[in-house]
Amino acid sequence: MQRGVASTDGIPTTDKAKVVVLMDLDALVGDVRGTGTTLTGDVLSPGVVRRLACDAEIIPMVLGADSEPLDVGRGRRLFTRGQRLALIARDRGCTYPGCTVPPTWCDAHHVVPWHRGGLTCLDNGALLCQRHHTVVHERDLRATVTAAGVTWHT
Ligand SMILES: [Zn+2]
Ligand SMILES: [Zn+2]
Repeated sequence: MQRGVASTDGIPTTDKAKVVVLMDLDALVGDVRGTGTTLTGDVLSPGVVRRLACDAEIIPMVLGADSEPLDVGRGRRLFTRGQRLALIARDRGCTYPGCTVPPTWCDAHHVVPWHRGGLTCLDNGALLCQRHHTVVHERDLRATVTAAGVTWHT
């Protein structure tokens, strides 16, 4: 999964990744163990799947008991270009404590994950570099977002 095409000012204008992952809904939503499988057969942990899904166009594919696709559709909305610019103005880079990675290399993270009902709005967004985006998802870290910025609870 590589970065998507960025415009000349470095603001990503396209989905960073298109993700088609087959995973039990219980494993994605809950905290039970499980793995995802990409179309090329790579096995991914739930944490990795959640990170990829956080800032990508996700294509939900709900499988029935016999693994036949029951429903394939568009998922949630991505952060818009305007929202990303506002996040950059507020966060100025990765929001993880002590990190100095600039905003053009950051993902827009959903503090409350979309699969738990989190909205795509500034109050639920936080810029994170890829390394800390991984940390936040693997440890399921929570954050408080105010107009002044993001505070992580580690
Ligand atoms: Zn995220
Ligand atoms: Zn960082």
